[in-house]
Amino acid sequence: MLDPIGLSDRVRGIEPSGIRRIFELMATMEDPINLSIGQPHYDPPEALVEAACRAIRAGNNRYTVTQGLPELNRLVLDDTEARFGRRPETCLLTAGVSGGLMLSFLCLLNPGDEILLPDPGFVMYRHLATLCGAEVRYYDVYPRAPRGRFGVDLEQVERLISPRTKIVFVNSPSNPTGGVLTRAEIQGLCRIADRAGAYVISDEIYDLFCYVDDYSSPVSYAERCIQLGGYSKTYGIPGWRMGYATGPASVLEAMKTLQQFSFVCAPSPFQYALLEAMPKIDLAPYREVYRHKRDLVTQQLHPAYQLGAPEGAFYAFPQLPPGADPAAFLDAALQQKLLIVPGKAFSMRNTHFRLSYAVDDAVLQQGIEVLNGLARRFA
Ligand code: PMP
Repeated sequence: MLDPIGLSDRVRGIEPSGIRRIFELMATMEDPINLSIGQPHYDPPEALVEAACRAIRAGNNRYTVTQGLPELNRLVLDDTEARFGRRPETCLLTAGVSGGLMLSFLCLLNPGDEILLPDPGFVMYRHLATLCGAEVRYYDVYPRAPRGRFGVDLEQVERLISPRTKIVFVNSPSNPTGGVLTRAEIQGLCRIADRAGAYVISDEIYDLFCYVDDYSSPVSYAERCIQLGGYSKTYGIPGWRMGYATGPASVLEAMKTLQQFSFVCAPSPFQYALLEAMPKIDLAPYREVYRHKRDLVTQQLHPAYQLGAPEGAFYAFPQLPPGADPAAFLDAALQQKLLIVPGKAFSMRNTHFRLSYAVDDAVLQQGIEVLNGLARRFA
């Protein structure tokens, strides 16, 4: 490879995602037991596919206005208001939640600003913050007791916040932990952010996949909240690149301007498709499928993994068996064709691993069997 002369300073700190490497490895394997995938295992609902085909045939293939179809903006705001009791000022349709993350970080973070991120957390946050020259501080969401839930220590967050904190970042349900924050935790985080004059950015891409009764969002509590939501996971359309951002008009206007000069708009036929089909589709049956898979994992995984029941998304984040060397464990899994993601891809620690149960039950059962064999060997 040529010497990377000419690359900007801002991209030099960015490494390829640990998950990508697993994708590449998988391509070389025959019949892997792949529990490393971060997308739903089902096809999109038929009504949505039909609506997309109709939209394309009807000629809805041009740009839309930057913020997206006004009726779809309204639908998002109505839904957010109905669920969380507060109507955000405005909405912008984005190119996936990834698009919303990029735009919101670029619009809020100056070099030297601080952002509080969960550890463990989704890989993209850290790298986008670094790209903006911001300093990342982590709040720990690991369980405090064996088989405990992944949650927030509000006192630690109080200690981490500083006059330079610009964003307190929340992701519930969480990738990679499957944790859902309690209402008290969400309220506490918002109170701390409000007092510091910081924004709360809330990544709610897994909002549908919540297996506890009380799902709450910073939208209900934070003075300055940017809500990022999306359709990739819930509607089974990660390749469509559809998401949304809601929040104060001042920030959303800046994000819109930046979108005008970057992504331009969210994919137009898919905006039409979601507008037409969403009100007709009930996603609850999809959630129940994942609740069942979640139960399989919780009930059948060897106790050495110290796993409490994941509360949302389609991930579990078990602890490595006590004393197991992380690299040796991953290698042993690979030798049995099992693909999982090492905890260090998401965290400063390397004590856990992520498995995705967004697979057929048969594959999940095979994976659990391999893991239970490894638990006996390594524990
Ligand atoms: N946030 C989280 C927590 C995710 O897991 C993902 C996808 N893996 C994204 C955002 C990005 O999703 P998309 O851009 O497809 O909406």
